[in-house]
Amino acid sequence: MTLLEFKNVSKQYGNDTKALSDVNFSVKEGEFVSVIGPSGAGKSTLLRCINRMIDASGGEIIFDGVNVLEIKKKELKAIRTKIGMIFQHYNLVSRLSVIENVLHGRLGYKSTLAGVLGLYSEEEKQQALKILGVLGLEEQIYKRCDQLSGGQKQRVGIARALIQNPKMLLCDEPIASLDPNASKIIMDHLRNISTTMGITILINLHQVDVALKYSDRVIGVNKGRVVYNGAPKDITTDQ
Ligand code: ADP
Ligand code: ADP
Repeated sequence: MTLLEFKNVSKQYGNDTKALSDVNFSVKEGEFVSVIGPSGAGKSTLLRCINRMIDASGGEIIFDGVNVLEIKKKELKAIRTKIGMIFQHYNLVSRLSVIENVLHGRLGYKSTLAGVLGLYSEEEKQQALKILGVLGLEEQIYKRCDQLSGGQKQRVGIARALIQNPKMLLCDEPIASLDPNASKIIMDHLRNISTTMGITILINLHQVDVALKYSDRVIGVNKGRVVYNGAPKDITTDQ
């Protein structure tokens, strides 16, 4: 079943920068899809239009049967709960502990009384501990995030996204700030999440070799247009 569909999506910044032009593609439930392309190609814009962190200029983006470009701002929270977001620079609260960051990841939590007071139920805590265990962060649970390595921070970022129980993860250059060893750990976790939890993954990468190794499908973007959409095995990197 199709989970996400772009139909003639365009995005213009200001008067002249056309970041996306006539973008069409779809992603099936459970698929692991990489978006590759050079810097400035429009990868980040493409990803961020899906949860409306950026508003597309035209077209349709159908996620889980809903055109996200048409919904009202206040309905966005329901959509965003189904879409976990993972960032290159982690976007953690550095003075908080690992588990606090994960529990704060729940959308809307900060605006509740429990959120203001930093409270959570035992059940929520158990769920966070379980996710942190899956990601191999048992030893880091009560450490402050500013004491972690980059790879550990990114695993906290993944845990924070997973606690929402999302249908899809949008990963915007999640390994761009990591060394090859930490990158492999993150990619292995993402692949494992996709395979064992059935969560759909759309990931921006500039490392073509990584995209080819981990993805079910690769979408190549250049100058705001889709220039390739197919299986990794059909791409040759020999020049
Ligand atoms: P990528 O993720 O592939 O590096 P981006 O989506 O970040 O590409 O950028 C695509 C194009 O849009 C680039 O030309 C970039 O300079 C431009 N762009 C991105 N964000 C903005 C913005 N907020 N304002 C103006 N132009 C932007
Ligand atoms: P609050 O509870 O104070 O309303 P939120 O938890 O809703 O705060 O998130 C605040 C901002 O963080 C949002 O406006 C959004 O830009 C960003 N954000 C956090 N998580 C997501 C997500 N999964 N998708 C999109 N944006 C997010």
